[in-house]
Amino acid sequence: MRGLPPDGRVLLICHVNPDGDALGSMLGFGLGLRRLGVRRMQATFPGPPEVPEPFRGLPGLDLLVPAAEAYPDPDLVICFDAASESRLGDLVDRLETAGAALVLDHHASNTCFGRINLVDPHAAATSVVAEGLLARLGVPLDAGIAECLYVALSTDTGSFRFEATTPAVHQLAARLLATGIRPGDISRRIFDTRPFGAVRLFGEVLGRARLEPAGAAGHGLVWTYATQDDLARHDQRPYVLEALIDSVRCTAEADVSCVVKQTPTGDWAVSMRSKGAVDVSRVAVALGGGGHRFAAGFTGSGTVDEVVDRIRAELDGALTGPGRL
Ligand code: AMP
Ligand code: MN
Ligand code: MN
Repeated sequence: MRGLPPDGRVLLICHVNPDGDALGSMLGFGLGLRRLGVRRMQATFPGPPEVPEPFRGLPGLDLLVPAAEAYPDPDLVICFDAASESRLGDLVDRLETAGAALVLDHHASNTCFGRINLVDPHAAATSVVAEGLLARLGVPLDAGIAECLYVALSTDTGSFRFEATTPAVHQLAARLLATGIRPGDISRRIFDTRPFGAVRLFGEVLGRARLEPAGAAGHGLVWTYATQDDLARHDQRPYVLEALIDSVRCTAEADVSCVVKQTPTGDWAVSMRSKGAVDVSRVAVALGGGGHRFAAGFTGSGTVDEVVDRIRAELDGALTGPGRL
């Protein structure tokens, strides 16, 4: 990249608890930089260095290092799919120690914490922004880059079902598929494969879902929760809980859906979705998190009931407060 010393060290960072867009846009861009001749490069994310099982086949995983081994003072740091510095966890200090910081993202709430910020709130995924920059740098798409970017794009668009699925998204998908990647295999691995223990765990957790038709100021709220003990009883890793929200949010009687997931520290990571009546990013931001209008999250402490009470209160406030709606 222009301005990078010939032997410059590049550190790629994506957000904590990485999803398909975080890992896919980071590794796809990293493979692109490699094609440009960047040799000293690492990719990482904060927290335990565990890649969720569905992403263990991604090309470019050889770039990954545990956060503890990441360059302490890279020449360039590039952040992916992180709306704010808090999403970088302990790696946030690299914004100070790096020679330059570039932010690639698509959250409307992005705080533009880099020196250069490529943030497109209309982009369906960070991978759209990443592909745009690779094209400007003259990097041709190959199957490795394309698979990473396709995983990112299909994850954040819910397999091309969400509102952000514009003609441009399908055109990008077509360019990615033209490299020869196999969408059937990729989708099966990413969306349609889970251990039997997770199937049983889902049965239990969905069985305790609660529908509150009067919730969210009458638009309806459905929610459930999963504990560390649930995971342990079914011998499952935390990543399996990420797919739960997709089973809960299909509830016809509720506009808003929530899954409250206990973390190893005892806090609760909350996923929220809306079908359109409610801007859940406002609720998430009010409770210390962030996200998009129809998909957002935050981390809360206390009991499940306390966390859900806070969500109920913010949801009612978000819909009835001054200047809202
Ligand atoms: P998830 O429910 O984890 O799939 O996240 C949905 C959206 O909310 C994503 O765009 C995330 O970036 C955002 N999000 C989730 N958790 C947090 C958090 N603790 N802080 C800020 N944003 C979050
Ligand atoms: Mn993400
Ligand atoms: Mn994203």
